[in-house]
Amino acid sequence: MNDKTLKSSGRNRQGLSQNKGQKQGRQPSKHRPTTHAPRKRFGQNFLTDQGVITAIARAIAPSESDNVVEIGPGQGALTDALFDSGCAINAIEIDRDLQSQLRVMFFNRELTLHNADALKFDFSKLSKTANDLRVVGNLPYNISTPLIFKLLENLGLIKDMHFMLQKEVVDRLAAVPGTKAWGRVSVMTQIDCEVESLFEVPPEAFFPSPKVQSAIVRITPKSDPYRPECSRRQLSKLVHLAFAQRRKTLRNNLKDVIADSSIEELGIDPGCRAETLSLDQLVDLSLRLTPAKSGG
Ligand code: SAM
Repeated sequence: MNDKTLKSSGRNRQGLSQNKGQKQGRQPSKHRPTTHAPRKRFGQNFLTDQGVITAIARAIAPSESDNVVEIGPGQGALTDALFDSGCAINAIEIDRDLQSQLRVMFFNRELTLHNADALKFDFSKLSKTANDLRVVGNLPYNISTPLIFKLLENLGLIKDMHFMLQKEVVDRLAAVPGTKAWGRVSVMTQIDCEVESLFEVPPEAFFPSPKVQSAIVRITPKSDPYRPECSRRQLSKLVHLAFAQRRKTLRNNLKDVIADSSIEELGIDPGCRAETLSLDQLVDLSLRLTPAKSGG
């Protein structure tokens, strides 16, 4: 665990200590236990550590006028903390069985519940002005990457995003060139957004506990388009090919779409691996892809 790890109190939602060796002092979640059995297929690992919940809400710091969209409110742990600011929340929850609980819990709050799959949801219907949505969520691990790609296509609606994700995914989002984590997700996110890995959250902060470490990431769309001459579609194709076989050289991965000489003209060694290239070098390469050659 590094300095950015929030230690859990080791208390579950009934307030019972789960791990005698851990530090005390944090509060269990304010939420009373319910009869809802967590569903694995919906990635239901509910946050139960009030200290962690408060830290996430503080990082998001919503204001009363914010247009907050929560993906997967679950049993309302984070929702409740966000409501302390007086903001209105649109929440998208796929599990119909959680709806009535959420309605009762937040009967006197400005909660609009959408019983929907976030991957198919039309986010434009929640937006009132450009870049007004503050999207948040403790995301189910199985949908996190496709959902982030979907939101990247809707950046004109979004002010910022704060997500709890598997730490490994946050590492890839925030990766720097020359590391193993640098790849398609890092490139496609960082070309249009600033990415900050905020802090890690241990498995004991959830019920049931996931097998992996989690982390909170903040993703903020850039105010001015970066390298606007670069088609994001072409860049996506380029990185898909360039990182297809990470151990192979650029020459090998791109042999059907860009000639060695063309790579060399950019001052890039065709014998290098894609993970050593900067964002700008990958953008430069994508500009050498002809639509016909890249199949687009
Ligand atoms: N926010 C709650 C918390 O932190 O305790 C619950 C987080 S739990 C990791 C993920 C939540 O997302 C669950 O409530 C689950 O039912 C919901 N969910 C899963 N897949 C979804 C999808 N495709 N669209 C919307 N919600 C989804």
